[in-house]
Amino acid sequence: MRDTWPRLQQIAFPPIRRGRLDTLQVNVGYRCNQSCVHCHVNAGPNRSEEMSGEVADVVLAFLARGRVATLDITGGAPELNRHFRRLVTAARGLGLRVMDRCNLTILEVPGQEDLADFLARERVEIVASMPCYLEDNVDRQRGKGVFDASIRGLQRLNALGYGRDGSDLVLNLVYNPQGPSLPPPQAALEADYKRVLGERYGIAFNRLYALANMPIQRFGAILLSQGEFDRYLDLLQHAHLDANLANVMCRNLISVDWQGYVYDCDFNQMLDLPLDGGGEARERVRLSDLLDAEIEGRPIRVAAHCYGCTAGQGSSCGGALKDAAA
Ligand code: SF4
Ligand code: SF4
Repeated sequence: MRDTWPRLQQIAFPPIRRGRLDTLQVNVGYRCNQSCVHCHVNAGPNRSEEMSGEVADVVLAFLARGRVATLDITGGAPELNRHFRRLVTAARGLGLRVMDRCNLTILEVPGQEDLADFLARERVEIVASMPCYLEDNVDRQRGKGVFDASIRGLQRLNALGYGRDGSDLVLNLVYNPQGPSLPPPQAALEADYKRVLGERYGIAFNRLYALANMPIQRFGAILLSQGEFDRYLDLLQHAHLDANLANVMCRNLISVDWQGYVYDCDFNQMLDLPLDGGGEARERVRLSDLLDAEIEGRPIRVAAHCYGCTAGQGSSCGGALKDAAA
């Protein structure tokens, strides 16, 4: 797979600094039951990187310090990690909001039959990928049969109360374009999703987040091999809005990898751009180094991929930044 970093680092991005920390995002490993075309993690069934019990213990020690309000768990398919449920239960016990970046098809994987009930019992907020409400588009991007399995997953979550009016079980969906284009306006797309998924399948959900594809990992390599990389970067760069810089997720979040190393965000993790340690040496920072350290004000490691977060309406882990700021 071709590496996009040599190209990304040649293009400047406005300097930004960290704000107040409120979210710990934990990537518990790159193993996944799917191998989606756009995956910025390059996750798949053959990846063996997995967070160990020792690193999960450090995560829990960090959470116990009371410095963040939210634990955001991602992967791969994070639920495949053997420490996933322990992390969730402990974080909920500490009173934290817990988010699970769920691919929906995992709910049907053998051994995960009780996963949906577990998530509902722990009041875990689900952020689920659903790149289209049309079967062909989803299966092309995520694999054959993924659409049907995703619909069944959503219906099961709805049956448990997720996404329903009056329920505190939050179910948000994530849209990303099929190829190298910007996502359409989030509010109109959300209305379309609600109408079509509701009418055809009886599905309800809370919010739709429209995210741009990141020009890194598998998607970036495809762009390079198709000669589309420069055009896509140009598109992102020209759609950049300075106003979005205030709300990019890296200002308030740190991302921890399966080995316990810390990054400004999951994308920087995939590019192997560690958090700025604040010292002279460019040493990697571990979460165990940050248990009591203040990081507010430290510079964020940026490069051209960051235009994926600030293009047009902007993408954060919570979707369009303009809405988020409103
Ligand atoms: S996009 Fe999500 S579901 Fe698809 S391979 Fe990557 S981690 Fe797995
Ligand atoms: S990719 Fe986005 S979230 Fe990550 S450092 Fe750049 S602007 Fe921040």
